[in-house]
Amino acid sequence: MTRVCGPTVDDETRCIHYRTPTDIIAIRFRCCGRYYPCHLCHAESEDHEAVQWPVAERETKAILCGVCKTELTISTYLSVLNCPDCGSAFNEGCRLHTHLYFEVT
Ligand SMILES: [Zn+2]
Ligand SMILES: [Zn+2]
Ligand SMILES: [Zn+2]
Repeated sequence: MTRVCGPTVDDETRCIHYRTPTDIIAIRFRCCGRYYPCHLCHAESEDHEAVQWPVAERETKAILCGVCKTELTISTYLSVLNCPDCGSAFNEGCRLHTHLYFEVT
């Protein structure tokens, strides 16, 4: 099973920073290849700066649904509001932080 790093508080990828009912995804960081629930988890657990995924690599599977454990591509994740596999709602607030994880044009 895909391991999620950082200070998680349950097995659906919620962490000490974001733990509402819809905070159910983890993101694999391009810099270290590890899954973290959020950018703060990455910053606290690693000693390097986070690297954003380039637009050219949006077909990479880098999002983990914490409910069904399906890995989504970045382009899929950015185009849906629910997990295409289990239908769980994703936190819309994450959209505000898109630029922290993905290069935006
Ligand atoms: Zn990293
Ligand atoms: Zn966190
Ligand atoms: Zn799912």
